Amino acid sequence: MPTNKLRQPNNPQPQQWLAANRSQKYIASYKPFNTVDGEGVRCSLYVSGCLFNCPGCYNKAAQNFHYGHPYSQELEEQIIADLNHSYVQGLTLLGGEPFLNTQVCLQLCHRIRQEFGSSKDIWS
Ligand code: SF4
Repeated sequence: MPTNKLRQPNNPQPQQWLAANRSQKYIASYKPFNTVDGEGVRCSLYVSGCLFNCPGCYNKAAQNFHYGHPYSQELEEQIIADLNHSYVQGLTLLGGEPFLNTQVCLQLCHRIRQEFGSSKDIWS
């Protein structure tokens, strides 16, 4: 007999989480010019909100979708200005969960491609 736990009545079924239903467009933190979130010198954006609830979560406060402050045009302009330095290789999106904040992340990614083409990389 198959023992697929996901099909047992007391275990919730997998479900789709939609950023549109979850994101509050809040930012936990922004750290320019770091070397710990990927290759080279990077700018890191930490978006707020995560549903995974991993054991030992390294950033539990950022699981809250209202943690930090709202994303703003001013912050976006600052990120673009920081990325404009030739020694900055790219942007890293962290959280929280970037894929539950695609309203913020996609807007920023499109802007980066518009401003820099493919000369800056984007990690998540
Ligand atoms: S913020 Fe990261 S570590 Fe924490 S629960 Fe979400 S995915 Fe897991």
